[in-house]
Amino acid sequence: MTATNAHVIIIVGAGPAGMAVAGTMAKAGHEVIILNRDIKFGGLAEYGIFPAKLKLRGGLKKQYWDLLEQPNVHYLGNVTVGNGKDLTVEDVRGLGASAVVFTIGAQGTKAIGVEGDSAKGVYHAKDVVYHFNRLPGFGDRPFDMGKHVAVIGAGDVMVDIAHWLTRYKKVERVTAIVRRGPVERKYNPKEIRAVCANMDLDGIKKEFDRIKDRMAAVGQKADEVLKGLIDEFTKCEPKVSETKMGFKFLASPKRILVDANNCVRGLEMEDNRLDPKGEDTVAVGLKQHYEFPCDAVVFAVGDKVDETVGLPYKGGLFVTNPNKTGNDPDDALFQAYDEAAGKVVEGIFLAGWARKASEGLVGVAKRDGDWCAEVVERYLATKSMGDQAKVVLDKLHQILKSRKSQPVDVKGLRKLEAAEKAHTGESDCIGEFKYASNRDMIGLIETGRA
Ligand SMILES: Cc1cc2nc3c(=O)[nH]c(=O)nc-3n(C[C@H](O)[C@H](O)[C@H](O)COP(=O)(O)OP(=O)(O)OC[C@H]3O[C@@H](n4cnc5c(N)ncnc54)[C@H](O)[C@@H]3O)c2cc1C
Repeated sequence: MTATNAHVIIIVGAGPAGMAVAGTMAKAGHEVIILNRDIKFGGLAEYGIFPAKLKLRGGLKKQYWDLLEQPNVHYLGNVTVGNGKDLTVEDVRGLGASAVVFTIGAQGTKAIGVEGDSAKGVYHAKDVVYHFNRLPGFGDRPFDMGKHVAVIGAGDVMVDIAHWLTRYKKVERVTAIVRRGPVERKYNPKEIRAVCANMDLDGIKKEFDRIKDRMAAVGQKADEVLKGLIDEFTKCEPKVSETKMGFKFLASPKRILVDANNCVRGLEMEDNRLDPKGEDTVAVGLKQHYEFPCDAVVFAVGDKVDETVGLPYKGGLFVTNPNKTGNDPDDALFQAYDEAAGKVVEGIFLAGWARKASEGLVGVAKRDGDWCAEVVERYLATKSMGDQAKVVLDKLHQILKSRKSQPVDVKGLRKLEAAEKAHTGESDCIGEFKYASNRDMIGLIETGRA
């Protein structure tokens, strides 16, 4: 690659997907500008993955630092793209880059849609995760959990929430509420090690007794499934609290029950049966309702993309090209598509959780980013050169200055990292020190004092 065929690419979002696109594009010799809402890079690798996973987080962080040190990579944190934000989508398109890739994750929250969901003590898992990872705006907000917490969901995020509740909040009881049965649980057996020392085995056995007939009706053998579930409770992390963790299977929350102060006092639950659906099963409500007492409810049922950003949106997702392209049929999967106009949004691409909300682990997001980079390369081969990096960056800084935005570059990040490291030994509940507000971080970067 020579300087003459180096394009300028803007990547919006510095999570695992964005960093993968950036890495490939930078390696190919292009000039890469990364715009990121958070001051820090990493996305959910910084603010989602459980804090105790030091090896995974540390490895990713090192990789991302190496990338940001490249001379053809220009990072600007604290820059949000969206309507009414630092830059609109149209602003970004007008900067003169050859392509723009949106890797902004799934920042929208799925409506819970259960009566009473605005009660005190009802939370979205993402907010709780952002809280214990100290994302600015969430780190210092109170998340009162009471004694008994119901976590709705059966995936890895449910386990992460339970982990935090048992290890750090040390609540009395955590119950995972699962619409279908134990066979349909979605969490990774390795993840359950974080909480298996706290499992209420007697309670789990009773729960299997409660649902065994409904399991048998679809050919599932409760005894075998129970053994399989309990066999996964090996290599448990040491127990640090008396929290009891259990499950409520084949049950759906229908209504949040509140007290006179609009605080959660329980759930109205409906029991479900399983019906076969091809190879899989579906939950069907039995119209048998009962009260399930609890003090807080966390919905860990996945996220959707942020429809306010200004990209074409439909049904929880940004719209991608439904038509196969001449190049490679898969290219369409990454192209933003304007259904009203009936054509692709020229030069705009999507990858990672922005393309498929809440799908997969870091490795999946990274692969999606790598794949998207290939698609963008094919697109660039058909394009004449856009503006030079300096021109694009000057224009960008001018707009940000006129809007009184406060972008943070790599030098600023280095200062911040040094200051946070200096707090070693002063870790908060998550095991490492992080400033919990943008104001503190910016203050430190500008003046050297937090
Ligand atoms: C609770 C939880 C725990 C997880 N634990 C693990 C785990 O242990 N191991 C594992 O491998 N995977 C884990 N994952 C999955 C992993 O975090 C994701 O696969 C991955 O982070 C998705 O990457 P992404 O780049 O698509 O999105 P994200 O990581 O969400 O990154 C999005 C980036 O875009 C930026 N952004 C958002 N909106 C805007 C905007 N409007 N303008 C500018 N920038 C914006 C954000 O600041 C962020 O930096 C976990 C996920 C969750 C939710």
